[in-house]
Amino acid sequence: MGKPVYQKVRGMHDILPDASHRWEAVEAAYREVVGLYNYREIRNPLLEDTGLFQRSIGDDTDIVGKEMYSFTDAGGDELTLRPEGTAGVVRAYVEHSIAAVEAVTKCYYIGPMFRRERPQKGRYRQFHQAGAEIFGAPPPVVDAEQVVMLAEFLDRIGLGGAVVLFNHLGSGETRRRYRQLLSEHYGARRSELCTDCVRRLETNPLRLLDCKVESCAKMKGDAPKMREILDGADLSLLERFRSLLHAAGVEAREDDRLVRGLDYYTGIVYEVEVEAERGSVVVAGGGRYDDLVAGLGGSETPAAGFAIGLERVLDCLPESPPASVDLFVLVPSPEAEATAASLLLEARRAGLRADLDPRAGSMKAQMKRANKLGSAYVLILGQKELEAGTVAVKDMREGGQVDVDVAAAVKHVLERLGR
Ligand code: ATP
Ligand code: MG
Repeated sequence: MGKPVYQKVRGMHDILPDASHRWEAVEAAYREVVGLYNYREIRNPLLEDTGLFQRSIGDDTDIVGKEMYSFTDAGGDELTLRPEGTAGVVRAYVEHSIAAVEAVTKCYYIGPMFRRERPQKGRYRQFHQAGAEIFGAPPPVVDAEQVVMLAEFLDRIGLGGAVVLFNHLGSGETRRRYRQLLSEHYGARRSELCTDCVRRLETNPLRLLDCKVESCAKMKGDAPKMREILDGADLSLLERFRSLLHAAGVEAREDDRLVRGLDYYTGIVYEVEVEAERGSVVVAGGGRYDDLVAGLGGSETPAAGFAIGLERVLDCLPESPPASVDLFVLVPSPEAEATAASLLLEARRAGLRADLDPRAGSMKAQMKRANKLGSAYVLILGQKELEAGTVAVKDMREGGQVDVDVAAAVKHVLERLGR
């Protein structure tokens, strides 16, 4: 077969022609569901100024600190392949003054993200997210609606029964106090912390709860809980959020120590888990980021959104075969090639998936190819048929073969397929 001179970059994957139909189906379902909620698509560049991510995701996060693909281009610009979608959407929202055109904006995106993480099952260096953002709406109605939309999407593709874990990161003063409490809790056991967490004590105490190093993760068990210091207004928001989800039949559990890996989150945050064969998988995360628009130069704008990891979703779904061919034309001789071409054109214009064997081998080889493609019908343009102006239509599923006028052949197949 020959030996490849190059291989794909570690942690990045080709989505090959025999697998892409699964992606298309999931993406189509996503577009359909978010469309019902009146979200419209936004398509941002994959490259942004590095500063955008530093400023919005936060300098002391794993993403910005360790995982970004950043480089200086030939003109000296500092650029980064986007590690997530929200920052670019907000950048565009501010840059195009969208707030001046409409008070509430709902948009969604689908596309690749890049993070230089250690590759493993469900964790890649190029992966794909489907996300949604809403600008100009306060909590908790739209937050709950976004989660319900997410659950509807999962349900539609066959991943029903999603569980939502949620928390509230506290407003301004409360969050400052919580940071302080965390800093004290972890600071008392400074010597047991990893070097990253020692730094986080000063720079970013919320991130302490996120550390994957075992000795640090152990301290999470008796860390202070957000709920203990949330004020009445935040608690009642959480309650309304919970009951809206409940009313929509979405299972939701409060997780007192849930923080997210990005600094822009402000209020309600959540993760969505689904049960797969190999245990529960976190397929999505999201929440409120009320300070980000202003942080990037816009006016104060409440906002919320989520992102779904499409690889994780697809890993939970069963394999499925690609679409099979509806009609296949066997071309025994060059004399039949013009008739074959016009039959194929007619079939395709009528919406049939139609093909032939471009290698023009023996009838047997062509029939083998038709079988391989799972063709429902095969049209055979033999010498006898060609002279009579007919074509033999073979039903590959039920068996049987009939001669039909060339002019009526495609219509015949359409009728048999019920289209
Ligand atoms: P995790 O805790 O799994 O690292 P995260 O908090 O970094 O996730 P987000 O940044 O909120 O995740 O991204 C939302 C979703 O994108 C995740 O729930 C996950 O499904 C997916 N995701 C994140 N990073 C990766 C990756 N490296 N490879 C594949 N999917 C990913
Ligand atoms: Mg991560």
